[in-house]
Amino acid sequence: MHHSLKTILEIQELDIKMIRLMRIKKQRKKELEEIESLSIELQEQKTLKEEEIQALDQKVNSIEEEIVALTGKIKELEGKQSSIKKVDEFNALTQEMTAVERQKINLEQEASNLLDTKSAEEEILEKINESLAATAQSSQALKDEIHSSIGMINEEGVALKEKRDSLVASSDKDVLAVYERLLRNKKDRVVVPVENRTCSGCHVGITIQQENLVRKGDGIIHCEHCSRILYWPESELAEAAMPTTTGRRRRRAAT
Ligand SMILES: [Zn+2]
Repeated sequence: MHHSLKTILEIQELDIKMIRLMRIKKQRKKELEEIESLSIELQEQKTLKEEEIQALDQKVNSIEEEIVALTGKIKELEGKQSSIKKVDEFNALTQEMTAVERQKINLEQEASNLLDTKSAEEEILEKINESLAATAQSSQALKDEIHSSIGMINEEGVALKEKRDSLVASSDKDVLAVYERLLRNKKDRVVVPVENRTCSGCHVGITIQQENLVRKGDGIIHCEHCSRILYWPESELAEAAMPTTTGRRRRRAAT
């Protein structure tokens, strides 16, 4: 292996951990936003429902005022009728009274329908209030949990950064720059071992010549297909760079 790659591999493991941490953090922040938007949505539903109920109340009130006015008018007509002597005038008044009565009955029916609607809306409002209370309680617990996990992620991030800084101090700056550029593009391991004459990053085969160059470790050899930096897996460090394989082996050994 090229002498500069040892440190770069250690840096890479820290960077991969950091990338994972940041993904988890992003995910957790998204969860927080979802909790917030759920409670905002419920709050909006509540406001909307309250406004609808208020509008129904206003309508019912104005209808009731009309009914009171019509009742007054009927009384007034009744009063007139008792003092009328002519039959045709009497009949005309009776007709008018019947019309007003009908109008009043229609309004009463309308008011009753509106009150039915109102009580249905009130039931929905109550359900909204219940779920608001329930989510407020459960989401607070979840929010606390997420905040504390983000706090831990941040602490872990700081520790990783410190370790990385000290490794960077002793690394080959040119190789580090190449490595960092590749990492920015791939967001995954970019210094990878050759396995069965293939690049273990993209799984495309390499030539015998390339393999020999990698094995010699004289310079930095890139995979021609994916540009990753290749190394020959010979040291324990190489194993450490393949945590899945190592982990599997260890588990197998333990059982
Ligand atoms: Zn490759």
